[in-house]
Formats: sequence, C-alpha cells, structure tokens
Amino acid sequence: MEKARLPFFLGDPRKRFDLISSYNRRVVGLCDGQFCFSCNPDERGKLVGFDGGPLEVMLQLQSRTNPFGPPREYYLAHLVFVPEQEKEEIITGAASDEAIEFDASYNAVLYICGGTRVLVDPGSMALTNGSVEGLAKLIEVYRPTVVIITHGHQDHWRNLDLLEKLGIPVYLTPLPNRLISHTARIEKNYALQKILRKGRAQLIDPGDTIDLGEMKIFTFPVPHTIPEAMGLLLAGERRAVHLGDFRLGEGVEKAEIITTLRAIAKRKVDFVAVNVVNCHLEGYAEPESMVVNSITNVMVEAKGRVVVTCFSTNVERIGSIAEVAQAQGRNVYFLGTGMRRAHLELAREGLEYGGDENDISQPNSLIFVSGCQAEENSILERTLEERPPYQPQESDTLVFSSRDVPGNEVPIRALIQKLTPKVSTVFIYKGERIRIGLEENQKIKEIDCHATGHGKEKDTELVILDTLQPKEVLPIPQEGEGFEAFKEMAEGVGIKIISERVVEI
Ligand SMILES: [Zn+2]
Repeated sequence: MEKARLPFFLGDPRKRFDLISSYNRRVVGLCDGQFCFSCNPDERGKLVGFDGGPLEVMLQLQSRTNPFGPPREYYLAHLVFVPEQEKEEIITGAASDEAIEFDASYNAVLYICGGTRVLVDPGSMALTNGSVEGLAKLIEVYRPTVVIITHGHQDHWRNLDLLEKLGIPVYLTPLPNRLISHTARIEKNYALQKILRKGRAQLIDPGDTIDLGEMKIFTFPVPHTIPEAMGLLLAGERRAVHLGDFRLGEGVEKAEIITTLRAIAKRKVDFVAVNVVNCHLEGYAEPESMVVNSITNVMVEAKGRVVVTCFSTNVERIGSIAEVAQAQGRNVYFLGTGMRRAHLELAREGLEYGGDENDISQPNSLIFVSGCQAEENSILERTLEERPPYQPQESDTLVFSSRDVPGNEVPIRALIQKLTPKVSTVFIYKGERIRIGLEENQKIKEIDCHATGHGKEKDTELVILDTLQPKEVLPIPQEGEGFEAFKEMAEGVGIKIISERVVEI
C-alpha cells in the first residue's frame, strides 16, 4: 500500500463513499469500515463535521467488475492521520468570495399551477432594500410547495433559510448543495443546515425532469460562470421558460443551448424570466477562452510569481488557468476559503495540482487568492496587514480576473492602490480603471482578463426575440441600463414586460 496526503471532499450522497478524492486519475474513496484493521481508529473521531481538506491515507488499489468493459479501478483509502485543518475564515461584505458575479439582483420567481407552487431561486443580494422583505412576504402569502435552485451563485439561494418552517423539498444539483452546506457550516446557520437535511435536498442533474403532477419541469444545462447551471421549462396550462442567469458561451456549448431552446420553441412559449443586466452592451458575451488566452500571455511573460484573484465559484476558469500554469512548469497554490474549495472541486474532476503551501515563495508559482472584491479577511486584504499566508514580492504579477460588484468600488480601489507599489504589474479587466476610479499608473494595465456570465445584446436578441418569442418576459433586474435597453428591444416587437414575481402557468 502507498501512503499519500490527498485533498478529500464530500462525495455525491447518491454514491457509495462519503469522502472522496482522486489519485493517478482514479477515484479514491475513504474507507468507512467501522472495524477496519488498516485504518487508524483514534483519528476517525476527528472526522466529525469534516467537509473537506487534506487527509493522510494508505492507498489500496481495488477493482470492480464492469459488465460493459474492463474492470474499473479505484483506490480504497485507509485513514492514517487527520492533519490540523486550516481555519475557515468567514468572508463578509456585499459579495463573499464564494459567490455572485456583478449583478446584485433579487432573483426569486414563484410559478403557480393549481395547488403546486414552485419557488425558483430564493435569493437576493440587492443594492436597494426591500427585496429580502419582498421575498419573505411572498413566502408568507403564497407558501411554496417546492423550491428549485438553478445554480450555486449566492444571489440565487442566500435566503433559502426563510423557508425552513415549510419543510418542503429543495431541488438542486450537487455543486450548489455543497456550496450551501459549506456556508451553513461555517456560518453555523442551523436553519440552512436543516433545510438541506437528507431527504429534503433532492439532488438532480441538468437534463432531469421533475414531475409534480399538474406541473412538469424539464431542466436543461445553460452556460454561465459556474458549473451545473440550469434553465427550466415549466409546463402547466401554459409554458414558461426560466432562463435566469445565462450566456450563450462558445463552441459546442453554444450550439447545444441554441438547439435546446429551438426544440423548446417548437411549441408556443408564454413566459420567460431572464437576466438582462448586460443587454445594453453590444455583441455577444465574451468567450471564456479569451480570458484564458489573456492570462496565458501574462504567465508566459511574467518573470516571477503570478497571483490570480477571481470569483472562486468560477471553477472552469480556475481549472483552465491552472492547466496552463502546470504546462509552463509552475506550481499551483490555492489560498483562502473559497479558493481551497475550488481546488477540491477540481480534484473531484480528477485534476491534481500544486504541492506544499510552504513553497509559495518560489518564482515559478501560480497562486490563486481570494479577495477580488476586497472582502474583509480575504487573502488580499490580509496582505495589507502583513498577515500570512501571502506576502507580495517585487517581481510578482497580480491579476484581477473579475469585475467590481457595484457598491464595492471604493474598497477595491483602495486595495489596488495599496498593492500596486509592492508588485511589478497589476492587470485589471478592461474598463475597470474608470469604473472604480483608479488614477493612471504605468504598473496597472487593462486586459481581457474577465468575461461576464450574462448575455449581452446579441445573446438576448437571438434567444428571446428570434428563438423563444414569448408573449411575456420578466426581465431581471428591473432597473439600470440593461433593463432599459431590453425594454426597448422587447416592446419593439410587442413583447409584454412583466414585473410581478408570481406567475400563473
Ligand atoms: Zn449567476
């Protein structure tokens, strides 16, 4: 047997192992044998409440028969030692590092068909007050019978705990389930924990159907900035499409979403709910490959370490950048609660990176850090007080692969102003200098190091006007330039704009 220290994370509750990892491109499952002679029984007690982090294990290669091909190999991991886990910091502020992009929205919509009342995305991260109260009122008056969460961004589930007393099922995919459980644990939010208790959290995959009798819900994958995002076709007396947060993406992903929407539109669509925050911006939403290409250029030109901050739920971007860094011979490190969790998500996909965090001072490092919104206690904010683990070096290149969440301009500006003298170059997203009010500085450069998760003018035109052609649309949010542009676009072709959050179907 081989000894190893591997990052373990909570497995899919529908599968055999509670804690899993990966090694040599094979799945690793932590042994759960109560009386296993190969496991260290004294350490097992330390796993109470454990929801991810490094474990020292002995690996035993196993194989399982497979009726469709050669036997499948996996490792059974016997527990040797539970290392001291790094303390989780709770990140506060308008946007925590594990969540929203830049649309601070009230996303909840209630669909009613007879006695079936489906609440989609009970979340609000609004800039203006009132929407949390609005959501509480909606729940009190209509008493939903089912909840669906379309994806893991916080503004789509942040107020889920308001539903605790109703005891109703919550349909969601495994990633948001892990994100919400994680937040519930670090915030000690017992209402949230209770809601996701076994039996109430109904895990589904995009593509699954939810049959509620008088209402059927067909889920389908939509491209966004977080894995497992899904759209919904809700069919009762009428047909509604809840597109929520989406972009068309690129390549196969783009072709597939268009094909799905065209298939849906073969029958009349009565209603669509869609995010329109970027509708005033020309063209299609930028492809993610452009971001990876820009950051690849930064990495190949950099003389020293490259430090990247972004939303930690953007797991695909983090993974792509990490792959490039590894190909360039860089060691990859993940610092901060959200980034460590992103690391675990990548390990879940069988991707292995990095090494010992003690080596982060080496010039050939790529370091992912939390703090793109200058959140309190994030790794970048801690740097200013010279609190470990990251300390800037003069040869460091810093990349903000994100956009400011409206309302965070002042702290982000202050953070960049303080960090710039300590490093060689700071790369920020195009337009960010003006948005956050930064003065010209030779060391601060604007590049295409971020891409929005929300469709722009062309994405919306193609999907809403050309494909779905609904009678009514609920645009989200209901303020700002994007909303105004959408209103003009939709009213021009006779689509009715709805502001009511309760929809009869
Ligand atoms: Zn989102």
